[in-house]
Amino acid sequence: MREKTWTAVATNVKLTEIQELNLPHVEPDAGILKVEIVGVCGTDVSYYRSLKEPMILGHHVVGHIYKIGEQASKRWGVKEGERVVMEEYIPCGQCESCRSGFYRLCPDTNPKLGGIRYGATPMSVDPALFGGFSQHMYLHPNAVIHKLPEHVEAVEAALTLPLSNGFEWMRIIGNVGPGDVVVIQGPGQQGLACALAAKAAGAETVIVTGRSSSQKRLELASKLGADYTINVSKEDLVKRVVEITSGKMADLVIDVTSGGTDPVISSLQVAKTRGTVLLGALKHQLFNDFDLDIIYNKSLIIKGVRGHSYESVQMAVEFVASGKFPLAIMNSHNYKLSDTDLALRTAGGEGEPSPLLVTVSPWL
Ligand SMILES: [Zn+2]
Ligand SMILES: [Zn+2]
Repeated sequence: MREKTWTAVATNVKLTEIQELNLPHVEPDAGILKVEIVGVCGTDVSYYRSLKEPMILGHHVVGHIYKIGEQASKRWGVKEGERVVMEEYIPCGQCESCRSGFYRLCPDTNPKLGGIRYGATPMSVDPALFGGFSQHMYLHPNAVIHKLPEHVEAVEAALTLPLSNGFEWMRIIGNVGPGDVVVIQGPGQQGLACALAAKAAGAETVIVTGRSSSQKRLELASKLGADYTINVSKEDLVKRVVEITSGKMADLVIDVTSGGTDPVISSLQVAKTRGTVLLGALKHQLFNDFDLDIIYNKSLIIKGVRGHSYESVQMAVEFVASGKFPLAIMNSHNYKLSDTDLALRTAGGEGEPSPLLVTVSPWL
């Protein structure tokens, strides 16, 4: 008889059903992960709200190798029982993006181009187990995995992927270093990850902004090491940054707020001359009355940032393994597999109150 696994399948818009599925036969170049914990990401919530095809969501996945083929074991350097963090990407390994180290931009791992990745692959793609909201997940031959020490608390390990974005955008792309002033717009998972990464990279002053509705997250930002927080619903952002920096303004600004184009404009305003502004969130709307001359006048560098590299995930693994920051305080809700639907609603602000990092532990 085939071995089976319990999984939470997103079957329709805002609907998740618990189903029992067969575990696949393991080919020499593939494997099966026993999922330990999954962090709920904003992307999961977007899929949950506008699902087009049934799929298993969840892509911030930590687990133990349950079964592994001989070839895969050699290639990945892992054995059954070892603990790993998964990346969401399943890149081809052969295209120009992959060959240049930017496998996160590989068309084969972009669901919008018919590609596959963890947490965004339809059930119709064999063997269907491509999501973390499940007791087991398929390890595709092109999966990207990182070993993780056993001593790391599960809820902290679930932060590895968001943290890796922080390291990618602050350290690798933003080149943050000692003495730098960094403004982070948006105190969600990504913003807090950026604050942690900027401090770890040596930034002198980290300023996190948010609205009154995110007051709790702003307080958390302070606990995690942000030097200043600014409530943009009550305070004038530009004026505050002038005060804090004595008019020097910010070396690096990142906008990771969801919705609204105003934070992009204020980001350009608080950047110093020759500063850098990173855009890390979709806006789904056009700009009105936007004076581009500010970019010319201040000789700004503006760059879109998406996802993480292998290197930044390694930085994040080492960061969580160091235990230097109280990351567990970011975990607001931890659910069992049967509550995956509630976990998605809570993460999207429609379930239980005050979400920050929401996790699912499928074996609870
Ligand atoms: Zn994510
Ligand atoms: Zn590729």
